[in-house]
Amino acid sequence: YGDHRDLHLSLRRQRQMCIRDRLIPRRISRVIFFLSFQSLTEVKELTILHTNDLHAHLFPRIAPWISESRKIGGFANLATLVKQEKQSNPSTILIDAGDYFSGPYISTLTEGEAVIKSMNYLGIDAACIGNHEFDHGWDNMLEQIKAAEFPILNGNIFYEGTDELVWDNPYIILEREGLKIGIIGLHGKFAFYDTTNSKMTEGIEARDEEKYLRQYIEELEPITDLIILSVHQGMPARQSTIGLTDVERNLYKDILLAQNVPGVDVIVTGHAHQGTDKALVSNGTIIVSTNATSTELGKLQIQYDTDRKRIVSHSNQLITIYDDEVEDDTDMLREITYWQQEVDKIASVPIASLTKKLVRAYGKESSMGNLFTDAIAAFDERIDIAVMNSGGLRQDIDAGLISKGDLISAFPFPNTIVMTKLKGSQVKLIFDHAAGMTNGVLQVSKNAKYSFSPRNKVLDIWIKGELINDDQDYWVAAPDIVARGGDGYLEFLNSIEYIDSGVLIIDEVENFLKERKSYEPKHEGRIQVIE
Ligand code: FE
Repeated sequence: YGDHRDLHLSLRRQRQMCIRDRLIPRRISRVIFFLSFQSLTEVKELTILHTNDLHAHLFPRIAPWISESRKIGGFANLATLVKQEKQSNPSTILIDAGDYFSGPYISTLTEGEAVIKSMNYLGIDAACIGNHEFDHGWDNMLEQIKAAEFPILNGNIFYEGTDELVWDNPYIILEREGLKIGIIGLHGKFAFYDTTNSKMTEGIEARDEEKYLRQYIEELEPITDLIILSVHQGMPARQSTIGLTDVERNLYKDILLAQNVPGVDVIVTGHAHQGTDKALVSNGTIIVSTNATSTELGKLQIQYDTDRKRIVSHSNQLITIYDDEVEDDTDMLREITYWQQEVDKIASVPIASLTKKLVRAYGKESSMGNLFTDAIAAFDERIDIAVMNSGGLRQDIDAGLISKGDLISAFPFPNTIVMTKLKGSQVKLIFDHAAGMTNGVLQVSKNAKYSFSPRNKVLDIWIKGELINDDQDYWVAAPDIVARGGDGYLEFLNSIEYIDSGVLIIDEVENFLKERKSYEPKHEGRIQVIE
């Protein structure tokens, strides 16, 4: 970390010198360049490897939407691929676009430490900060990312009301093949407020990414040949195994950013979990991303014309990481094995047995949603209905004996149970919002039922067997992230009463299962989709 911080400081000095250089009339300098270098025009090749939303997938696993039988991903495979690419072509860099925390329990139980320390062996040249890096609080994030031996970048998250960046490292400059490459890191402002838990980001604020991008481009343009932006923004995680495939819609924010702010050569983006088999091009900016969770390594190759000072051609490729095709990197394997053994002391304790696989889903009822909301509803007898955002559930759990680790991997967030008292009319507004989401919908506890028309509105809501009454008060329990207005559930903020129990949802689900010893996952027709 020390090295790039020094580089960053010396850049501020360089920047001032460049402003002086600019005083040489532009036209004259261009003529000199033309005369003396015309015959020396050179096309340089650069490989930009890219990852995003690794989400703590340190180990290979079955990703059923890719293969039912072959394991995919994992850091030991990823590290090997990166090493091979860098050995075969020294002008290769690896950029990550954030959300390395939160996924399998190894991240939650170490509050990200296992992830950062393992990432030190990945060969990353620069990474930005994603919303999930704040899952255990911004102070924890700062503590953890200090251990990174690679540059982590962010230039638009500040201490509230000050001009002091929380992580004071907006960009770096790397040199490859004699090319100076400026790399900027930003977090989409909307994505920040939409998907971080406000309790975890108290005292800090994200500011307009466009404004800061313009500022950093202005600083970098005179002293670099190429500018790359690593950004975490856009439509949140397409986490469902049956997801949307409209690449342009999912990366719309990036397309728009490139339109509004010219001057970026390449955007490596995250948050959408949307891979770009073919790179998108918007306003001359190349946009790339992977399908996330370490299932693949992105490889963007560019040809840069040193005379015209621009990229003249490019091609992108998403390399699916099949465990049986790649050797483990031994340093990485040692590191991730160490962390797995550490956390398994806690995580491997069995809790209960499942008679069937527990499955999550988006846009409809899921057996996992039913378990979690029933456990929340059982927390306090006043609760009329418990709800949960489908997006909070991250991993299915196989039938058989299950452990605390399985539960944490399914729900890796330290969210607490919040009880809110709301009018029936307010509850309807909340469900209307849920129905309107492209990739969400609220899971509900067994004392409730509702029907909705997708991407539109809620039709009927029944609570304890009766249609909801606009004027009646109801106690609605929800994860604190939702009750604090996350995912756009703003109506919770107008509740008549608001009680944050401070009790972790994951603990409540654990108790719920322990009491039952054996649990049967089921669908009960709680959510009806009416097309
Ligand atoms: Fe994200």
